[in-house]
Amino acid sequence: MKIAIDGPAGAGKSTVAQQVAKRLGILYVDTGAMYRAVTFTALARGYSIEDEHSLREMLDEINLTLEIKNGVQHVYVDDKDVSEAIRSPEVTRLVSTIAAYPCVREKLVDMQRRIASCKDVVMDGRDIGTSVLPDAEVKIFLTASIEERARRRLEEFEKKGVQADYAELLRDIEERDRKDSERAIAPLKQAEDAIRLDTTGHSIDEVVDRIVTLYRE
Ligand code: C5P
Repeated sequence: MKIAIDGPAGAGKSTVAQQVAKRLGILYVDTGAMYRAVTFTALARGYSIEDEHSLREMLDEINLTLEIKNGVQHVYVDDKDVSEAIRSPEVTRLVSTIAAYPCVREKLVDMQRRIASCKDVVMDGRDIGTSVLPDAEVKIFLTASIEERARRRLEEFEKKGVQADYAELLRDIEERDRKDSERAIAPLKQAEDAIRLDTTGHSIDEVVDRIVTLYRE
């Protein structure tokens, strides 16, 4: 069985997906982390974000792997754990540009489908229900108001002791959603057969319960 969880930035997809996977004892795959890892590596190795051609060469050279440690997904590039580094503001700002390139999507979608072909998974992203796993038995489109999403991001930063500006976070989320929705390949979009869950004002537990129930029905 497969569960696809898609939705805009900051809707709580990864928190929800991780808990659903834990409750059901199945694998959780955070596909955003894969796009982030490619973006981080391109920046770290001095590639131009605008140069799709050289990024294609980089993709051929790097070895991207995922590993679960204590129930948490870690991302490795050539055996280096980049799980923390991929959350930087710079990567967050640039990832949508890289995620729009066909060569990047081709490689990562292929990896995602291979992982899901041999295991039950909860996979979260932007195009899981529409493109990566169109046959997923449960499809969720998770959303929340833009203000709530920006507030949650602010809280995450504050918990880490990092200063952030609410208005700036709101603008960044809007801009990323716009790019993700307007790109030519597999844009952010609700699958026709997905259930839309608005998490504004709802607890994580309520949303997790609802998805677990849908999976067991
Ligand atoms: O989920 P997260 O916010 O970490 O995703 C980072 C970015 O990766 C998204 O804004 C989007 O550009 C890209 N992405 C994507 N397709 C996915 C998952 C993420 O294009 N399935």
